[in-house]
Amino acid sequence: MINCLHCNSSFNGRVDKKFCSNDCKNSFNYNMRKKTKSEVKTIDNFLHRNREILEVLMGNYKKMMIHKINLERAGFRFEYMTGIYHNKENKRFHYVYDYAWAEFTNQEVMLVKKSEKQ
Ligand SMILES: [Zn+2]
Repeated sequence: MINCLHCNSSFNGRVDKKFCSNDCKNSFNYNMRKKTKSEVKTIDNFLHRNREILEVLMGNYKKMMIHKINLERAGFRFEYMTGIYHNKENKRFHYVYDYAWAEFTNQEVMLVKKSEKQ
């Protein structure tokens, strides 16, 4: 006997069979797609929020130092970024779209806005 991955009812069939019916198979796949979509949406939300926070904090500055705690207080999520790069001094910059941040000390973070020409 095999248990259906969707409804968990047991059924007879080949060992590699995962679903009791096509309906269960379709429902399962539909739910998986929906789940993936909502996960992507969550990541997007965090990234957009991070960008918004950087934009507000930086205003017209192209470069500034800020205490990490201020970013945290604003709800910044350090684990969400659009890319990473190392500059000549081997500082690790984390991109959030057209903004980037790099850890300077334990408490301080440098924020940079990329110029439009880049
Ligand atoms: Zn089923």
